[in-house]
Amino acid sequence: MNGIPMPGDRTSNPAPRRRELSLDEYAAGVQAGDVGVLARAVTLIESSLPRHQRMAEQLLTRLLPASGNAIRVGVTGAPGSGKSTFIEALGLHLVGLGRRVAVLAVDPTSGVTGGSILGDKTRMTQLAAEPSVYIRPSPAAGTPGGVALKTRESMILCEASGYDVVLVETVGVGQSETMVADMTDCCLALLLPGAGDELQGIKRGLLERVDVVVVNKADGATQSAAQLAARQYAGALATLSGRDEQDAPVVLTCSALRRIGIDTVWQAIARRHERLQQSCDLERRRQRQNLHWLWSVVQARLANTLDTHAGVTAVRDEIERQVSDGTLPVEAAARKILEALGIRDEWNG
Ligand code: GDP
Repeated sequence: MNGIPMPGDRTSNPAPRRRELSLDEYAAGVQAGDVGVLARAVTLIESSLPRHQRMAEQLLTRLLPASGNAIRVGVTGAPGSGKSTFIEALGLHLVGLGRRVAVLAVDPTSGVTGGSILGDKTRMTQLAAEPSVYIRPSPAAGTPGGVALKTRESMILCEASGYDVVLVETVGVGQSETMVADMTDCCLALLLPGAGDELQGIKRGLLERVDVVVVNKADGATQSAAQLAARQYAGALATLSGRDEQDAPVVLTCSALRRIGIDTVWQAIARRHERLQQSCDLERRRQRQNLHWLWSVVQARLANTLDTHAGVTAVRDEIERQVSDGTLPVEAAARKILEALGIRDEWNG
């Protein structure tokens, strides 16, 4: 590493000098299930150094054929709905079934609030202690789109490393559910019993994307409220989701804290996955996601180029001044910026 701390190294002191791994060593280590190498490979793909990015690209190309074999599940919910408690309970249930589980995060708030939903592994101590579990906190900063791109790539590495269930956690705010639904096979929303109206949290976007709705905290004083909320959601979803019966979201209750109903939730996910697989819908869904991912990357790179391109930087202030003064029409200004980028098409002259 040449003593350069890389993103993901979570020590405040400079990392001890570690020998840089070769591409072969990364690929072999990841595929052998070596968790230390996997962690370093994820750090490599998160790095913004061009040299690391080139190597990450080669590594992903190498490992892509070995990926794709996991059940990919998105878990979304408002802060406090019990996501980490639930993921720990579900993860331990899966470990009991002999599964290898990776937990990744898409955190649109990281870098803004300084907090990260998985920044602190101590939230899932029991799960983190399991040898067949890999938990990766969200990258500490970056645009939501950028975080999601890295999470997708991390998922490929985890699958190539033999993890057969990947849980992608996100806070249910803004676009995060859509981002998670765009990278998983099954999207699960964790909701609170009776908090506000029966349709709290069920936004249209979520309705279209969610596959399994789970009302958590179905225990003690909140048990009957959870069951009532589940019935209300089930009624509303049947009419509002607009999806055919087979594809309509399933509504369940559970207690993540007491670990009640977790097996039923998993059965619902597994059944749905099997059905998707048998009908080839899974393959189609993943193909669609990959194409969408491709264009997201192209757009992200173009936006980055626009921000950093020397030619654009040289003309930007002057063009902005002219547009602000009202001396240059916006269309003409846009054409000049594109020209500075080297883009000329027929329309552009
Ligand atoms: P997150 O912010 O969505 O990750 O939520 P946490 O997992 O941190 O849980 C928030 C709070 O709800 C914590 O105090 C948990 O102990 C509590 N909690 C989580 N699941 C349950 C549950 O099934 N029943 C009850 N009664 N409390 C729960």
